[in-house]
Amino acid sequence: MAVTDTVTGLEVHDVRFPTSEQLDGSDAMNPDPDYSAAYLVLHTSGGPRGYGSCFTIGRGNDVMAAAIRSLAPYVVGRPVPATAGRLAALHRELTQDSQLRWLGPEKGVMHMAAGAVVNAAWDLAARRAGRPVWEFLAALTPEELVALVDFRYLSDALTPDEALAVLRAAEPGRAERAGRLKARGYPAYTTSPGWLGYDDGKLVRLAKEAVADGFGQIKLKVGADLDDDKRRLRLARDAVGPGVRIAVDANQRWDVAEAVRWMTALAPYTPYWIEEPTSPDDVLGHAAVRSGQPVKVATGEHVANRVVFKQLLQAGAVDFVQIDAARVSGVNENLAILLLAAKYGVPVCPHAGGVGLCELVQHLAMFDYVAVSGSWDDRVIEYVDHLHDHFTDPAVVENGRYRAPTAPGFSARMRPASVAAYRFPDGPVWRARSQQREQEVSA
Ligand SMILES: [Mg+2]
Repeated sequence: MAVTDTVTGLEVHDVRFPTSEQLDGSDAMNPDPDYSAAYLVLHTSGGPRGYGSCFTIGRGNDVMAAAIRSLAPYVVGRPVPATAGRLAALHRELTQDSQLRWLGPEKGVMHMAAGAVVNAAWDLAARRAGRPVWEFLAALTPEELVALVDFRYLSDALTPDEALAVLRAAEPGRAERAGRLKARGYPAYTTSPGWLGYDDGKLVRLAKEAVADGFGQIKLKVGADLDDDKRRLRLARDAVGPGVRIAVDANQRWDVAEAVRWMTALAPYTPYWIEEPTSPDDVLGHAAVRSGQPVKVATGEHVANRVVFKQLLQAGAVDFVQIDAARVSGVNENLAILLLAAKYGVPVCPHAGGVGLCELVQHLAMFDYVAVSGSWDDRVIEYVDHLHDHFTDPAVVENGRYRAPTAPGFSARMRPASVAAYRFPDGPVWRARSQQREQEVSA
């Protein structure tokens, strides 16, 4: 790579898939999602481009795209951020623009937009280095990794020295674990059987398929109707047998007391964890749910930033931390969360699915295994078998395990034909739908 290479453009697309037509992705809070990506491409004066995206579920994807565009001055016309030092500086700049920070701070649309740009920069840097992101990260020294993290607001729970100690403790086993990861892949679980809009027949068929495909854990959506949940859990248990874990996910549907009541009623069906029982901002509420009923508590896919994760851990509110690759400010903030979880000894079970979330987050879990927590015990990455064909390096799950990516980058590049077909509102997939609606209205 020529050292003078610069980023010459930031291109953003509003890409939406009409998944609501099949009720794929439906849960107690999100009955009709159109899985979408605010997708960006970093153009460069030489060498590969960088790719990134932020997942949304339809309306508002244009808002996310506009937020990403507003960050162009931080990357366009500047040197390609190819080193750990430059990636650390870029993350700080993107999250500390005082005027844009006002829109959060460090939460919501603007923060997610910063995360999309940060992740695209990591994709670009890893492509330049000829390595997948998990391996690129795992080749950095403990000192370089610590320098990537913004410790502001964290030092009462995790200091740079403590983070360094976590990373140094994992350092001697890195090569051995990387070899094991390449040979065996990383454990996964599947949510494909469990969408709330699926009928009982489809639930049972997909649950049996999940076991036949080698998964040791599935997940069901709950929280709309207690009797339905009991019936669905019973059907799922009959379908998968006693040896397979069944997690449940309420997608923030309940108040705290209702979560305790509902999960006490579902506990005899031995769900493995209850995910997002209540508001993702409610740290004390999660602690109350955890202590008020017997099922383990998981959350994180909508947790806004490292500060809330810190509090969840300080308060003993969660049994599992569920990072999301595209919710917080990208690789750097997720590294902070991995380090916090490692210090508190809480396993990280990443959230995925959506558009491109499996592709992205697998790299973070694998890096965690190799260089941070050093363990995959009690850890699984979510897998949903949707929309992977739209990526040039799709996530591959075999026998219930994610295969370690080998292609350079963050597995973040979408197929140009998919971007063109599903671009909203002017791609042919959406034009056809609006024409059909116009005909129905005039008929
Ligand atoms: Mg969930």
